[in-house]
Amino acid sequence: MIVDIDLSFFVADARQIKLKVLRLDTEDVITGGNKSFKLKYNLQEAKNCNKNCIVTLGGAFSNHIAAVAHQCNRENLKSVGIIRGDDLLQRNVTLKRAEEDGMKLIFVNRKDYHELRTADETLLQSLIKPLLEQNAIDSTTCYLVPEGGNNQLGFKGSCEILNLPTDDYDFVCCAAGTGTTLAGLAASIKPHQTAVGIAAVNDYDFINKNVSTYLSQSQSHGEYKLIMDYTFGGFGKSNPELRKFTEEFSALTSITIEPVYTGKMFYGILQMIRKGEFPQGSNILCVHTGGLQYLQI
Ligand SMILES: *Cc1c(COP(=O)(O)O)cnc(C)c1O
Repeated sequence: MIVDIDLSFFVADARQIKLKVLRLDTEDVITGGNKSFKLKYNLQEAKNCNKNCIVTLGGAFSNHIAAVAHQCNRENLKSVGIIRGDDLLQRNVTLKRAEEDGMKLIFVNRKDYHELRTADETLLQSLIKPLLEQNAIDSTTCYLVPEGGNNQLGFKGSCEILNLPTDDYDFVCCAAGTGTTLAGLAASIKPHQTAVGIAAVNDYDFINKNVSTYLSQSQSHGEYKLIMDYTFGGFGKSNPELRKFTEEFSALTSITIEPVYTGKMFYGILQMIRKGEFPQGSNILCVHTGGLQYLQI
């Protein structure tokens, strides 16, 4: 579903720029958004390999953890979440729901977690095996999805986000965490279009390298830009101005956004419009990638 944003709420002189939103958030609050695209081919592959348990990793508020747990429950797959941080006896909404969806949670300290998230596929497999075995899980039944669904099959799924008529747009924008979604957009746009990623994480080299690796393996791709000016200090960081903006935006447009990803994207895109960084008359499409699961009780 694509909807219009009335720019006069936010920008004094919009110079005939038009802004629309591709709402991936309306599908399902837990499994919708960009995560369903990144999971689609991973779950298919797991089944093709006769694996009945999905193992993945994430932070305590991770939208990816929430989506994996819920989708696995729906598809009768087991799931294991390796969670950054010490065992949180007081579960937050994300972890409580993940457990209700049948996900087994394994907590690892920040140092060990860092080693896991930066490991390559082979090292990751070897680091995770003992963790699973300590928890009496047979690792031969498990299929590993990296943090955030950041792998080739996640990229393949992200290339389907624009599978609807979007030729009219000059710019297609999304929030970027690992950049897998941005790569998917960049790989599926037309030559006259540019993909714009507003980074939600303060790590240009990580995102940029990830995007260019995916694109170098794809048949063709369009131009992309990675904008680092609206990270608000890093992943999960925000300030009163950003939080006030997300509330106002949600109230004025009836499209709920949050400060971790989509708030930064819309804040950034509107600032770029104000600063004249998009040409007069541009047609801009922002992808609402979801991320609202932790707001739902
Ligand atoms: C995970 C997530 C992203 C980041 O996606 P990447 O493909 O890792 O860049 C963006 N928006 C929302 C709402 C997310 O949950």
